[in-house]
Amino acid sequence: EEQNRLAEERALELKKAKDELEEYSLQLQQSSQYKSDFLANMSHELRTPLNSILILSQMLMENGGMDQDEVEEYARVVNTAGGDLLRLIDDILDLSKIEAGKIEILTDEVNVTELPQTLKRLFDPVAAKKNVTFEVLTDANVPPVISTDGQRLQQILKNLLSNAFKFTEQGSVTVQIAVSPPEKAEQLRCSGPVLAISVADTGIGIPDDKQQIIFEAFQQVDGTTNRQYGGTGLGLSICREFTRLLGGVIEVESEVGKGSTFTLYIPSQLEPEPVVFTALEEV
Ligand code: ADP
Repeated sequence: EEQNRLAEERALELKKAKDELEEYSLQLQQSSQYKSDFLANMSHELRTPLNSILILSQMLMENGGMDQDEVEEYARVVNTAGGDLLRLIDDILDLSKIEAGKIEILTDEVNVTELPQTLKRLFDPVAAKKNVTFEVLTDANVPPVISTDGQRLQQILKNLLSNAFKFTEQGSVTVQIAVSPPEKAEQLRCSGPVLAISVADTGIGIPDDKQQIIFEAFQQVDGTTNRQYGGTGLGLSICREFTRLLGGVIEVESEVGKGSTFTLYIPSQLEPEPVVFTALEEV
């Protein structure tokens, strides 16, 4: 009887090991699938602007009977394509720096009252091109100055707003700057107030089962090569990593066909990294 029991135990252990191996092999397969999807999307994203640059610059060089307006128009398209390429490469660099743990966070006094103007200046032109209104609202109790990395904060908001406009054809995009309920401060183990900055759109929305994976690198709701919206699936994973470095979290609520709201929670007083870490790293 004792032998039977041991044999059963052993069989159970073996079954568990087999399940674990299968799970692991599935994960490996998935991760290699992500990588090949990513390379396919990335090549597509690199080729599109590069093709415009090559074709249009060729036309400009030949310049057969073009008037000044045409020359300017072509030069503008070349310039935009160059900008797209630069953004893409910056995203890849950011992500690889994050993965290597090489991103530096520079804590500084950031003037929150200036944020609406900055965002309006950047995105009013985008809103004007679409049938979409754009508003930035600030609650009265928001501290006017916070201590965080302003550059990274802007990068996160720019990514969220680019997405909001990209996936919204009509209605509105609204940024709301507020102080979060105290539970959030507890969750983030913060003594001071936690800022809640939400970016709400009335766009296509995100299905429930995709709301978590879109934060993973290379993941898109529609990742097929003939998809309607461009992009590489890097923006949100960069947002999530930067938010983590700012001591915060990012959450999404969305309904297909109605719209999405991404909310960024960040401490208003980010503790600077203790100097000892830098010193240790250099050793
Ligand atoms: P990209 O926009 O380059 O595809 P992101 O990481 O920024 O990469 O976004 C990943 C995916 O999440 C998008 O491809 C899209 O499917 C979905 N998504 C992000 N933001 C929105 C939004 N505001 N509305 C609808 N879908 C969104």
